[in-house]
Amino acid sequence: MTDTPVRNTTARWRDLDRRHHLSPFTDYRDLKGAEAGSRIITRAEGIQLFDSEGEAFLDGMAGLWCVNVGYGRKELAEAAYRQMLELPYYNTFFKTATPPPVELSERLAALMPEKLNRVFYGSSGSESNDTVVRLARHFWKLEGQPEKQHFISRTYAYHGSTMASASLGGMTPMQEGFGLPLPGFHHVVPPYWYDFGGDLSPEEFGQKAARAIEEKILEIGPENVAAFIGEPIMGAGGVIVPPPGYWEEVQRICRQYDVLLVADEVICGFGRTGHWFASELFGIEPDLMTMAKGITSGYLPLSAVGVSDRIVEALLREGGEFAHGYTYSGHPAACAVALANLDIIEKEGLVERTRNETGPHLQQALHAAFDDHPLVGEVRGTGLIAAVELVKDKASRTHWEKLGRVGGICRDHCFANRVVIRAVRDAMVLSPPLVITPAEIDEMVVRLKHCIDATARDLG
Ligand code: PLP
Repeated sequence: MTDTPVRNTTARWRDLDRRHHLSPFTDYRDLKGAEAGSRIITRAEGIQLFDSEGEAFLDGMAGLWCVNVGYGRKELAEAAYRQMLELPYYNTFFKTATPPPVELSERLAALMPEKLNRVFYGSSGSESNDTVVRLARHFWKLEGQPEKQHFISRTYAYHGSTMASASLGGMTPMQEGFGLPLPGFHHVVPPYWYDFGGDLSPEEFGQKAARAIEEKILEIGPENVAAFIGEPIMGAGGVIVPPPGYWEEVQRICRQYDVLLVADEVICGFGRTGHWFASELFGIEPDLMTMAKGITSGYLPLSAVGVSDRIVEALLREGGEFAHGYTYSGHPAACAVALANLDIIEKEGLVERTRNETGPHLQQALHAAFDDHPLVGEVRGTGLIAAVELVKDKASRTHWEKLGRVGGICRDHCFANRVVIRAVRDAMVLSPPLVITPAEIDEMVVRLKHCIDATARDLG
């Protein structure tokens, strides 16, 4: 039995995982029992993952929407190695800096929307959104409007898992029983026509969803509202692409009531939509913009907040310490990896390729495979982010009673067929590495079609 040692290693890791490791977003009951246990991923290359038993999977999710340049990039490992030998760590507190974060800030300033020219660093998307909460409140205090403390966000938004970022988010399971949202965090309807649009056209509904923000501002009082935050395309909430005109109206409303506009580009940034940032795609000119994930393609943890000239001017004019920061703000090795990652994205033209070639290829392939499928209510997306919404009744846009059950069945078929595609409620979501080829996209869609057909058969 040549594979016995492999089996034993897998069994050992599963056992250690079960006994000593608490994984995030996991129902620990599911890990009980000798046969149950986590899948152990040991290696990856390009868009393929390999588990501890040598099985290969197509990674339709780029990890957690982050491995934009794909796996196995030696340039990124070498950048980390060089920086770790030179200066593995030093802090950026108290008027100190190191070369990688300042170099990276210049690069980001050139890529971000025009009015964003400064960058504040953290290690996760959650931290960057916590920074937004602190910085927005600090800004309004400096402006002599300290009562501007409230934040508006949307149902189904995902902005992270810390107390403040989960309060910004609009996911009920992350809030119920946790004392969240914290006071001062409000939620309005998302621009999700498929679920909330009723008889309105997508455009009409987009205007209605934007006006919900205005109504909330007026309810709270504009003098009390610090900021509105939104992902340009809502990712973890189910790849919700807003109808045309939505962001223009949101922007108009934020300007009218002097409410800061925050774009959470943690998923959309660094080429995912075929633009460096989706703010470009929707004409959003944010006051603050959060970034993570694709900034290093996930090779090391790093996040960033782009800060507008208006906010920086207030910080400079009024002075006083901004009492906020993280030990790893501007981590030199993470920033060095980010710089090498930007080099790859630029040299390989991954943003343009996503916009002109692979993005349209994925969207067309999904429409061709699923527009007429009886189980599919809607195919939506842009660039290399997409969702295939599974529904009980296509004609009336009706979901199954227990949301997520059918998505779970399909996701399990996907794993069994060696493709990682996540289910958000009953929407199958895709966000592959930007290095994916048209042939790999075709293979992924063929496997997904097979799995959706199998799901339909399971439902009888
Ligand atoms: N914002 C968005 C839009 C996200 O999708 C995520 C994570 O998926 C976050 C913030 C939180 O990032 P992190 O998990 O790095 O804290």
